[in-house]
Amino acid sequence: MGLIVVTGIPGVGKTTVMKKAAEGMDIEFVTFGTVMSDMAMETGLVKDRDEMRKLTLEQQKNLQIKSAERIASMGNIILDTHCTVKTPKGYMPGLPEWVIKRINPTAIVVVEADPEEIYNRRANDPSRNRDPDTVEQIAEHQMMNRAAAMAYSALSGATVKIVFNHDNAIDSAVKQATPVLN
Ligand code: AMP
Ligand code: MG
Repeated sequence: MGLIVVTGIPGVGKTTVMKKAAEGMDIEFVTFGTVMSDMAMETGLVKDRDEMRKLTLEQQKNLQIKSAERIASMGNIILDTHCTVKTPKGYMPGLPEWVIKRINPTAIVVVEADPEEIYNRRANDPSRNRDPDTVEQIAEHQMMNRAAAMAYSALSGATVKIVFNHDNAIDSAVKQATPVLN
């Protein structure tokens, strides 16, 4: 299987879809944002994970490289992360050359939904400090993520699988994701 990267913009449900698709399989899940925020909290840089994308780009890049090194030593896992991270300075690549070359994935799953669906899911999730994006901005973010995914594919040879996670259609999403895990 190799290392599988799973991506999707905040609120799309990527973790839910992939956990369900991998049910009963002996695969370890690692969340890039957790590895990164553990490091950032240890050094007192942030108090929670949603503060990281507001750090300077240099601080984010340093954390990203250290996280990629840690993750590269973990073997074949499912890595939950982002094609791009929205920062005040623009879209930051989640898997730039110095990350993708270290983790060398065999497949990149991009979980998507309609921008309106994502907008409503975010509005109903008080547990996270989500950015108040408009429907149009959500559509743009998903478009940028597709472009980024193909660039990462060109750098690594990984396939890119788009999985739609529409409202009340989790079973369909799981079915779309399953072939990637075999
Ligand atoms: P998540 O829990 O997946 O929403 O991720 C939390 C935060 O971790 C994101 O908002 C980013 O600040 C950071 N993060 C996750 N993956 C990456 C990555 N590949 N590169 C840079 N930052 C990341
Ligand atoms: Mg998640």
